[in-house]
Amino acid sequence: MKRIDFTNTQVASSQTARDINRGVVLNLIRRRQPISRADLARVSGLQRSTVSLITEQLIRERWVVHGPIGRLPRGRRPTFLRLNDRRAILVADLRPQQTRVGLADVNGNFLSQETMPTTNDPRATAQGLAARIRRLMEVHPHLLFEGVGISLPGRISEKTQHVIFAPNLGWPDFDLKGAIERATGVRVELENAANACALAEVWFGHTEKIRDFVVVTVSEGIGTGVFLNGQLVRGRTGMAGEFGHVPLDPSGPSCACGGKGCWEVYGSNRAALRYYQESSATQQELSFQDLLALAQSGDALALKALEKMFQAIGRGMRMIVTGLAPEEIVVVGELTRQWRRFGSLIEKEVGMGFLAGRPPRVRPVEGEMARLRGTVALVLQKHFGPSAGAREKEHESSLQGKAIA
Ligand SMILES: [Zn+2]
Repeated sequence: MKRIDFTNTQVASSQTARDINRGVVLNLIRRRQPISRADLARVSGLQRSTVSLITEQLIRERWVVHGPIGRLPRGRRPTFLRLNDRRAILVADLRPQQTRVGLADVNGNFLSQETMPTTNDPRATAQGLAARIRRLMEVHPHLLFEGVGISLPGRISEKTQHVIFAPNLGWPDFDLKGAIERATGVRVELENAANACALAEVWFGHTEKIRDFVVVTVSEGIGTGVFLNGQLVRGRTGMAGEFGHVPLDPSGPSCACGGKGCWEVYGSNRAALRYYQESSATQQELSFQDLLALAQSGDALALKALEKMFQAIGRGMRMIVTGLAPEEIVVVGELTRQWRRFGSLIEKEVGMGFLAGRPPRVRPVEGEMARLRGTVALVLQKHFGPSAGAREKEHESSLQGKAIA
């Protein structure tokens, strides 16, 4: 938070300084609420008068409200401040068959959740999603909607903000952000699902002090979010982190990306289903949930299929371990329900991939909520970051004049 780079010789304008201080104070309230102004000044190192000015502004903007009155053994009773939980964030996690839509407050508590079908027609999916979002806004008229966060299994161009690579959705280049913003009038933040999970780890998770970790999301495909030196790694085109599409065997099965033998054709939910269908010669359409249920009931072929999947995940993870040397690898997905039985297969491979020192920790995180929390973090980080104030103004002027359908 207070990691300000003093080697950057650009002179900060007083506006920039105000924005940084605003971000620092807002973040402190978020992490330590309820908190008094005196404690804010003490922890931030800012002057009491500066803290008062900023908190007044945050109260005017309805980001912060007065919490309970504090009790001290003697003297004045301080007024505590906390985030305004009437500030709400609309979220969606797009997956190839199904999209989960939800509504959360600024603290990441979910007020509602629902699902809708995802189709391979991006326009139709955008329309359906915008209709759900508008309805949620209508039935919660007392809330202040901060933005829409959308995570999806694909990559987004930093320049155009279009979805440029989404093989498992089967979508062409599409302006999902623009379509939802025009239909709802609310700002939209798009992010790759694995990157969003990495942000959620930083905002809500246990990785606050970890500067190097990688999130691996295992679902219909395999995604990775790479967080190194305290920052999300995006690469020049926003495509960084596509380990799932590195071929492990160029003569392997075809992948949705057009290649062959990619890591994800061996380690994804779809791979486990393929293993099961091949070994049981069943024609039956199964979901990954069905496969997990079969494994739970002791079905030997389902267990074998999951074992192969876990092994393949571990083997591919060695690229990450050897190449990036993270402190921790967070695995997100429904597969983590079988972690107790098969997690050691991944840990073993990870241990073998490390060349010196201590191998990274591998931590499983249950799937759906982690992905949704990621979408909340996505919106919040735009408002709690150091230059959030400036970005807000910029966005207001960009939305003005845009037709709202
Ligand atoms: Zn591929």
